[in-house]
Amino acid sequence: RTVYVNGEYLPENEATISIFDRGFLMADGVYEVTSVLDGKLIDFDGHAVRLERSMSELDMRSPITKEDLLEVHRELVRVNEINEGLIYLQITRGSDGDRDFVFPDPETTAPTIVLFTQNKPGLADSPAAKKGAKIISIEDIRWGRRDIKTVQLLYPSMGKMMAKKAGCDDAWLVEDGFVTEGTSNNAYIVKGNKIITRQLSNDILHGITRAAVLRFAREAQMEVEERSFTIDEAKEADEAFTTSASGFVMPVVEIDGVALGEGVPGTIALRLREIYLDEMRKAAI
Ligand code: PLP
Repeated sequence: RTVYVNGEYLPENEATISIFDRGFLMADGVYEVTSVLDGKLIDFDGHAVRLERSMSELDMRSPITKEDLLEVHRELVRVNEINEGLIYLQITRGSDGDRDFVFPDPETTAPTIVLFTQNKPGLADSPAAKKGAKIISIEDIRWGRRDIKTVQLLYPSMGKMMAKKAGCDDAWLVEDGFVTEGTSNNAYIVKGNKIITRQLSNDILHGITRAAVLRFAREAQMEVEERSFTIDEAKEADEAFTTSASGFVMPVVEIDGVALGEGVPGTIALRLREIYLDEMRKAAI
């Protein structure tokens, strides 16, 4: 695989990063994951805009223009012959050659930028989406700026491990009884014909897929309510699903051992998945 590091395309085993990089020492960095379908980028613009915002919230300076970033994404897709898969992009604050809590001077310290591809044939036609996900709920003990897409992913990883140990696929995070989001996705329930998902704030990541799916839902005259819902309300819902750039729209069929509806993927979730994939393929660049 060819990867991109600080302006260079290299074989993955020749790419190197300083051991003092603050991404490595302090999880001081941000990332994005963009999916590739038919060899094209899904919602590149949405991810580029959120990346800018994540960096500006952390006083980081972008080492690359949006135009060049698009070029790097496309070049990696081309050289690695990705038809369906993901592009991972990470920008960390770099280092001035030592460890210090204080940020290094941005005038003299360049951020580190890394991109690599993950080949995932069958990403869109996923068996997991046909089966639906079983989830557990766990307490949300993450920090208070979940709107910033940082590489600080230890707790979400632990959440996925807890789900795996329980024989499930993923976990939803719960704060004061209310669902914030999934470990790596936004969370939704459906009651009657109404789609309910938590309102945007610093408590959740502002999903790029969320924005697109809610737009398509409204365009299709579906009712959308952006409000907090409790985990108890979720267990009584007719359907549930999650959204993310890598999972698109993923039906949820079970929460903490309680089957939702008939215990199979819901019709609204499946319809939204189809609309999302159709529309985003058309708009891919
Ligand atoms: N919420 C969290 C915590 C995430 O990590 C992610 C994606 O990684 C999402 C939501 C979904 O965001 P997006 O649709 O932009 O992939």
